[in-house]
Order: sequence, then structure tokens, then C-alpha cells
Amino acid sequence: MFSVKDLHSLLDFPIEGGQVLSLYLNTDPGERNAETTQLALRQLLKSVDLPEEVRAVEQYIDLQYDWAAKGLIIFSQGGGKTLFKVFKLNLPVPDRLAIGLRPLLRPLVGLLDAFSGWGLALVDSQKVRLLSFDLGEVEEKKVVMGEDVKQIKHGGGTAVAGRMGGSGAGANVDNIIDHNVKEAAEIAADFFSRKHIRRIMIGGTEENIPRFKQALSKVWQSLVVGEFPMQMSASESEIVERAMKDAVIVQNVLVDRLVDQANTLAAKGGAGATGLIDTLNANHEGRIKTLLVNEDFEQAGYRCQGCGYLTVQELASCPFCGGQFETIPTAVEMAIQESLVKNADVKVLGDNEKLAEIGQIAALLRY
Ligand SMILES: [Zn+2]
Repeated sequence: MFSVKDLHSLLDFPIEGGQVLSLYLNTDPGERNAETTQLALRQLLKSVDLPEEVRAVEQYIDLQYDWAAKGLIIFSQGGGKTLFKVFKLNLPVPDRLAIGLRPLLRPLVGLLDAFSGWGLALVDSQKVRLLSFDLGEVEEKKVVMGEDVKQIKHGGGTAVAGRMGGSGAGANVDNIIDHNVKEAAEIAADFFSRKHIRRIMIGGTEENIPRFKQALSKVWQSLVVGEFPMQMSASESEIVERAMKDAVIVQNVLVDRLVDQANTLAAKGGAGATGLIDTLNANHEGRIKTLLVNEDFEQAGYRCQGCGYLTVQELASCPFCGGQFETIPTAVEMAIQESLVKNADVKVLGDNEKLAEIGQIAALLRY
């Protein structure tokens, strides 16, 4: 598992210690067996000229790794002595190997953004099942409430109808359902708030979903971004699979909208930037609210040794402090990490065409 805390400790990692080997490996047994994965790993490591780091990775995989995770991430430096971090995820990660002065965080940042902070409520007329997801892992809380609606419908219906007078059993059943749903919404709100949920999905029937949604407060309603039919008896893996699929769809719609927004704002001279030069300048000024970057976009650049100004333009001296520049082979990754340190929200896009057209990188600015 990987948390925001882990991310921050990696962002603090000093760059003076030499080269870091970053490995992302798809170990999902549903996609390929261990033998095929080992083969892919050997291919990846073959091109690396860091024997100590490679040995540390190989030793871990041969002797310690249990092959239970779907995605494996390793950061290794100094033969594993100055840095050796392993993260096992319940999500497959595309194979990737990188060498740099810092751990490569972009794929992890993308996964954290797309697959964290999800809450799901599975509802029917009597029960609610609440789940929270982080990086494909589930924490579940089951709640059973209210009176059994079916029993009243079939069993005690006549007696209830008699007591209620003309309105019959139907009205009373509706009352019970209303009560159940109201209570479910209250418990759900409490759960979502404790789990720091930022996005909500609701599973259930066409009848139950809107009823539950209406019972939520306006604030929680505004976080509902997905609804799908699902049986109360669905297995956890079934729910997770459906929810993760929807998470990807929701994320794609969201980033498309953000790319459009950044582009429109930048064109109007407003709080938007497009392309690497403008985005790097906005980043230096700490103005980036949301950074949008394509997964594979990378470019070499220069970094001022005085104030840290990052640019892809070759300049004699720094326009901000007069300092000298050093060459940075992965200026885009460095910009992403710097913007995270400055509290920007970073969205990593899987080769988004619209973003490619406007320079592979863009930003929504704070002012
Ligand atoms: Zn400078």
C-alpha cells in the first residue's frame, strides 16, 4: 500500500546520493504468470548500468517477494543501502524502469489521484453497505438497518393496513423505507467524512439509488459521480472491479474537461498555462493549482543552482537571481515533483490527445 505520507517522504528525498533505480512491474497474476513477469523484469534490468541497485532488486524479488500484489514498485539506491522502498499495490502498474537523481513518482502520483478517496454505498430498501477504496484496496463497513420491508409486505401487511385505515400496507411500507433510507444516508455521511472521501459512487436499483441520493445532504450529493446497478449480495471483488472501471471513466471525463479549461483560460490570458515553457514559469511562481501532464512526456532542461528556476530555454544566467544553470535530463518529472511540494493537484493523463496538441503539459493557475 502507498499513502500520501509515503509520497511526501519520497518528495523530500535528497538528490545528492547518486542515481536512483525506479522499477514499476506489472505482477497481476490475472494478466501474466510469475515466469513471464520475471522474463519481462530481466529485459528491463538488462539495459541498466547500476549493478549494485540491480542486485538489490533481484535479491528482493528472488528471496522476499510473495507475488500476491498486482503491481510492484521498488526504489533502490546505493545497492539498497541509502534507499530501498517497496510498495505493493492491488492495482496492476505498467512495466517501467527509470534511472534518475530522484525516484520516478509520476506513475504513482497518477494512480493515487485516480484511485484514492473513493466511497461507495450499495443500497436497497432495507440495508446499506459502505465501502471506501484506496488504490484498489477496500475497507468495508456493513450496516443493516430498519425493519424488514419484505416481511411486512407479505406477513404483517394486513394487520398493519387495518391499523393504518384506508391507506393500506403500501403507505406503511413506504414509511419504513423512507426511515431506513434516511438513517442509511446519515450513517453514510458519517462514514464518508471519517474516511476523507472525495468522490462517491452509489450501487443499487433504479428505484433505490435516487431515493438514497436525495436523502444525502447537498454537499455529499455534489460528490456523487457514479451510479450503477448492483445487487446487495454482490461479492466484494465484483464491486471493486465495477467501481475501478467506473473510476477510470470518471477520471477521463474530468481530465478532458480540465484540459479544455486550461486551454481556454490560457488563450484568454487568464488563469491557465499550456506548453512546457509557460507551465514551468507558472510553477516557479507557485501559481499552479492543477497540473495536467501526459504520462510519457519528458524533456531535458536546465535548473538554476541559485533559486531552482527550471526552464527548457538555454539562458546565460538566471533571470530571477543571476545564478548558473545545471542540465536536468528529466525536467518534466522534476517540475511535477516541485509542483507537488508546492501543493498543486497533479493529474497524470494516459497519452491524452487534446493535451498533446497543446504541448503535452498544461495547468490551471491559482490567479
Ligand atoms: Zn535563479
